[in-house]
Amino acid sequence: MKNIIIFGAPGSGKGTQSDLLVEKYAFRHISTGDVLRAEIKQGTELGQTAKKYIDKGQLIPDSLMVSILAATYDAMLPCEGVIFDGFPRTIPQAEALAEMLQERGTEVSCVLELHVADELLVERLVLRGKTSGRADDNEQTIKARLEVYHNQTAPLAEWYKKRNLLRTVNGVGSIEDINAQLCKAIDAI
Ligand code: AMP
Repeated sequence: MKNIIIFGAPGSGKGTQSDLLVEKYAFRHISTGDVLRAEIKQGTELGQTAKKYIDKGQLIPDSLMVSILAATYDAMLPCEGVIFDGFPRTIPQAEALAEMLQERGTEVSCVLELHVADELLVERLVLRGKTSGRADDNEQTIKARLEVYHNQTAPLAEWYKKRNLLRTVNGVGSIEDINAQLCKAIDAI
């Protein structure tokens, strides 16, 4: 059982690359953003709560996010592996994930970081906003999301590096080249 985290700023290509990895390795994909957007679409209570944070570019509180993640993970078992996309986003979430996996007799296999400079991220997200229909892909919310990323999420790179789990890949280039580098990192574990 492989537990692979795809890590990077909004717009770094996590979703695109996750789709390709899922296809190649027959892994399951957990995108916490997709889970929350589905809840919003269905008009659930959870969706209504999540929307308040998402629209401002803020993070959903850790305790709520961790319970959503655990339920989503358990619903995917048994499987060959899971790609975590958009989770964890804070150190408490990473700690909770380690504990959750340990309780299930498994652990994080590796963390694949896609590195992309901020200016390019803004450009990519503004462009995506033209077709994504996502309310948070507008310039003001994009800026807030990037600030949240640098303050709350980016420190996780160091956290995982200390645990010897971080593999950083240049997230600028062709989708195929980036995918090949990610596959190489996965094949090495
Ligand atoms: P994403 O699709 O991964 O860019 O996520 C969109 C939004 O959903 C984020 O800006 C957050 O508001 C929320 N979200 C997704 N995943 C998490 C998470 N792990 N922790 C807190 N909020 C999250």
